[in-house]
Amino acid sequence: MRKVVPLKLANDADLRATIESFRLTQQRVSEIAFEHGCPLSAVELHQLSYATVKGPLRSQLTCTAIRTVSSEYSRARKRNRRIYGPIHFSKPRALFLIGKAKRDACPPRKETIRVWTVAGRKDIPCSIPARFKAELKNVKSYDTLAVSIKKGRLVATLSVTLSDPKREGTLPAGIAVGSKNEVAVVNSEGKSLRVITVAQNVMEETSRKTKKRLERRLAARKADGLETRSVRRVLKRLGRRRHMRTRTFCHAAANRLVEWVGKGSILVMEDLRTPPPSRRNRRRSSTPRPHFYEVLRRRVEEKAKDAAIPVYYVNVTGNERRCSLCGAAGSISKHTFHCDSCGSESPMSKNAALNIRNKFTVTRPWAAVNQP
Ligand SMILES: [Zn+2]
Repeated sequence: MRKVVPLKLANDADLRATIESFRLTQQRVSEIAFEHGCPLSAVELHQLSYATVKGPLRSQLTCTAIRTVSSEYSRARKRNRRIYGPIHFSKPRALFLIGKAKRDACPPRKETIRVWTVAGRKDIPCSIPARFKAELKNVKSYDTLAVSIKKGRLVATLSVTLSDPKREGTLPAGIAVGSKNEVAVVNSEGKSLRVITVAQNVMEETSRKTKKRLERRLAARKADGLETRSVRRVLKRLGRRRHMRTRTFCHAAANRLVEWVGKGSILVMEDLRTPPPSRRNRRRSSTPRPHFYEVLRRRVEEKAKDAAIPVYYVNVTGNERRCSLCGAAGSISKHTFHCDSCGSESPMSKNAALNIRNKFTVTRPWAAVNQP
């Protein structure tokens, strides 16, 4: 598990000089990469530019600078951005690799961190904020130290790899994903938690209307031969906001439900995992809108990993139309499940979550459950 931890660094003139020199190296390499015209791989760029830019920095840092430039260019290419001039590296930011031998920085000690600057090796006073100290107890390795200058101050972050905590649990809790931005979880005692955003449904409806209106206006302007840039821009912005809305909700819901079930539980989800899109399809849609289930699933996986809770998947079909008490088919109206046989009524998502949990409980002894 990788984690980024902030680090408070004392001001240091040599470190500042190093960062500035790193930026200048990047800028020079960027010019070389642009002058060359055709896209270069990281290795080709290295061979082409290393001799020109070596000198002010340690060789390892120079290599890192070249690599960051190369990745910046390939990112622009991936996003189909046209490059008119060399990419500017105006933000002073340097990346130090941490390791034992011949690296740019050492793992932080109690009050200092050793960094190789333009003036040689230096121990710079530093401190890690108290709330991150507990996490750093099970560090597997320190990877990089990124230092940038923001508003005249040194801002540093430390990337670390943490050893994964063992994921254990006994009591299953089912998670059901509703279609209308609703998530329900039922624990082994039958208690349930539902995360709903009514406002979100309303917002979705509103933005759908806005989108339609804008599309009409776009078509009209196109027909009249007027410029369409402003309308297209508003449409794009709207699309981005809608895109983020799903993610915002899924993250909040996953955070809440993982916290709610607590340690010793097992999270059970419906298995709707689909294979990733083929390379060709991925290219065709530059920004695919993530599926609600998939976004939530990923977040639940992430949070469960942090909380050391295992996640299992079960195959259930038509679970939302089955009564969780008697197993007969029922009907759904206005997000409420109604059973015709036993007359029970419950929120649709709660009923589905119960079915998922029950399915796990029943199939557990056999190998019908997919482990993550
Ligand atoms: Zn029933």
